[in-house]
Amino acid sequence: MTTDVIVLGAGMVGTSAALQLAERGRRVTLVDRRGIGEETSFGNAGVIEREGLVPVGIPRDLVRLFRYALNLAPEVNYHPSFLPKIAPWLWRLFEATDRAGIEAYARAIDTLGRFAIPEHRRLAATAGVSDQFRETGWVRVYRTASGLARDADLHELATRFGIEYRRLDPEALRALEPDLKPVLHAGVLWPETQTVAWPEAVTKAYGERFQALGGTFARGDARSLRRVGETWVVSTEAGEVAAPTVVVALGPWSNDLLDRFRLSFPFAVKRGYHMHFGALRGARLSRPIVDVERGYCLTPMARGLRLTTGVEFADRDADPTPRQLEQLKPIARGLFPLGAELDPEPWLGRRPALPDALPIIGPAPGVPDMWLDFGHGHLGFTQGPISGRLIAEAITGEPTLVDLTPFRAERFGRR
Ligand SMILES: Cc1cc2nc3c(=O)[nH]c(=O)nc-3n(C[C@H](O)[C@H](O)[C@H](O)COP(=O)(O)OP(=O)(O)OC[C@H]3O[C@@H](n4cnc5c(N)ncnc54)[C@H](O)[C@@H]3O)c2cc1C
Repeated sequence: MTTDVIVLGAGMVGTSAALQLAERGRRVTLVDRRGIGEETSFGNAGVIEREGLVPVGIPRDLVRLFRYALNLAPEVNYHPSFLPKIAPWLWRLFEATDRAGIEAYARAIDTLGRFAIPEHRRLAATAGVSDQFRETGWVRVYRTASGLARDADLHELATRFGIEYRRLDPEALRALEPDLKPVLHAGVLWPETQTVAWPEAVTKAYGERFQALGGTFARGDARSLRRVGETWVVSTEAGEVAAPTVVVALGPWSNDLLDRFRLSFPFAVKRGYHMHFGALRGARLSRPIVDVERGYCLTPMARGLRLTTGVEFADRDADPTPRQLEQLKPIARGLFPLGAELDPEPWLGRRPALPDALPIIGPAPGVPDMWLDFGHGHLGFTQGPISGRLIAEAITGEPTLVDLTPFRAERFGRR
């Protein structure tokens, strides 16, 4: 089969790119070894964030650093045997997230952030899943005054970038979310942020819309990609697919393919877990709550309350070690009356992360007709649709809505 574009990877990022290309009249085959939206885009917290202006970096205060080093903090876990492997990457993250780095990150990420929600809502409307979206914002809650003070950078940047937020004292918090236990010092409501009730359903709906526009989804191994003359060819269960252009959107698996084309990016995989819970005595949450100082999020989902953890540094393919979940269960129960666990075992996901915390969106350096769209870290569910739009605009030769310079792959050089 011959087509215009092959998109490799059917997470939120690849599916959105495929849909955006199909909307522009391109014939597209979307390839994944699994179904649409069944990896990282399946189990996230479902938050479409407007205010993610500060990269998730390494703390600069010694007490927190010490807790991290001793593996005591529930917000971060690491496999000790993995530390030597990840240390150079952590150092790059440390360097990239000094004051100047945070400023540069905020400026770049805001160019995506300001269009992320409208672009999601536009795709959701065409895909018939607008009812999945909640416009109640989300709340970052703080147990201590010092915890709140540590977010001063975020609040200053948000003010400067014109992003609305509202400080809540304990009484205002109780009025907003009456079932939270009275253990909090303050909260900050971010009303522009939206959330979905079932991330997988949204990704799959975008995939169905893509197919309704004439796009094809095929199962296959992206690593079978090869160059035959001026054409890209990939093997799928439906046979060989050939196209002049390919988009790599394999999330945390992107390097598995790119290594073969002498491209390799400094990826870390930030693993994270989720578990669903019931609620005791009919308790309710109306919006996601981030317990900032403990590094987890509770989101009301179609299946129950989804607790998503912070970061685990471990080999991407190592067996799950949901230690953080175990640490967090009593902490979360101290914040909200969680009921029984609803999943037979925790879900494990893998955030694809680059050391400057920005994604790569643009052409592959030195590889003709290959485009890259991956590395969205903590914000890939948010940024899939806008990234997909940008890559589709670039491929079709339209002016891009956003300047792609900060997202160019060249910032990491070529092997
Ligand atoms: C616990 C947790 C909570 C999160 N919460 C949020 C949130 O609230 N908001 C937010 O914006 N982001 C959140 N994220 C991040 C977000 O989920 C990711 O950034 C995003 O899902 C990445 O999307 P993707 O399409 O790049 O990758 P994926 O969804 O992982 O898609 C990559 C696809 O590539 C396919 N693939 C891999 N190898 C091959 C191969 N060889 N051949 C064929 N196919 C292959 C996989 O099957 C997969 O479908 C969270 C992540 C985690 C882990």
